[in-house]
Amino acid sequence: MIDKQTKEAIYVGDPYLIQLNLLNSCINNCEYCYIKSSSAQILNPRRLKKFFQKFEEYHNRYNLKISVSLTGGDLFLYPHLEWIIEYLRKAENVSSISLLLNSLWHKNSKKIILGILNKIENIQLNIDNIENRECDLKWLASKKIPVNIKILLSKNTNYYNSQMNILKKLTKSNPSLRVSVDRLIPTSKEQLKDMCSLKELREKASEILILSNGNFVCDDPIIKLLFDQKEKLQTDSLHGCSIGKGSVTVYPDGAIKLCARIPKFETGLTIENFDLKEYIHLANKLTRKIHDKCRKCTEYQFCKGGCPATFFVKSNRLDKDINCYYEE
Ligand code: SF4
Ligand code: SF4
Repeated sequence: MIDKQTKEAIYVGDPYLIQLNLLNSCINNCEYCYIKSSSAQILNPRRLKKFFQKFEEYHNRYNLKISVSLTGGDLFLYPHLEWIIEYLRKAENVSSISLLLNSLWHKNSKKIILGILNKIENIQLNIDNIENRECDLKWLASKKIPVNIKILLSKNTNYYNSQMNILKKLTKSNPSLRVSVDRLIPTSKEQLKDMCSLKELREKASEILILSNGNFVCDDPIIKLLFDQKEKLQTDSLHGCSIGKGSVTVYPDGAIKLCARIPKFETGLTIENFDLKEYIHLANKLTRKIHDKCRKCTEYQFCKGGCPATFFVKSNRLDKDINCYYEE
């Protein structure tokens, strides 16, 4: 058992989320992809094994479980995928796995998924790739695997309309399809112009809420506020942004990131020198000012400053959400 003092010192989401970006090669070239600008790399499995061993130690010491989210680039292009799947399947400390995929295009995709069936929490599919692959949705439904279709909200009207047209078709034939909504978090100054205002977020997300018959999931603190999902939020163990206390991201070169959406922010940590307490301490230090600014806000207990990544590209520092609910 974790004693109270240690729990407070390293207080983390249960399970703790590790997002692994295993490579940056992809079958697509999505305009708003955050990983494609990183230098071409493939996460070395020997290095990754040592990183996993640290979490095995945390499990032995603190009973800390982990949830692993695997993505790329395109996950199926990762040459050591079978090794990771086998490791995650057997590891006692891994309580759940989610996969972020383009589609089930690869000949081994079903075999890979079946290898971890009892630990799969959900599979997220890219709406840009699923239009002519309804067979993937049927197969996943036949295995009772929860599926999210990801929609990205930006000012780009053509892109939004094309996503909506595909979603309309998909929800007709799959009425229980779950939609996962993200907003564009710019990773370059040029993308700032494509970021939705709060009003646009509300309008677009409302349309999706109706279209998806309410099968709408979202981790974004500001979008959640727009829909008054407070009741649901109260049952979550963590509110607001999850960096530090709730999650860590690894890039294909082995760099530790606060979040996949802040690729330019160097933490100075790598999978070799990573230490959970040190990492959480760093994240707390970096976000302390945001909490100080927001603490008096009536929405603070649910929003906690929103998504600090939204501000980073504007002036190379973390700050409260650019779409703050009170700055409409
Ligand atoms: S001031 Fe804005 S960003 Fe901060 S907690 Fe309130 S709504 Fe969220
Ligand atoms: S920085 Fe933003 S995108 Fe990243 S975990 Fe926090 S809320 Fe989510």
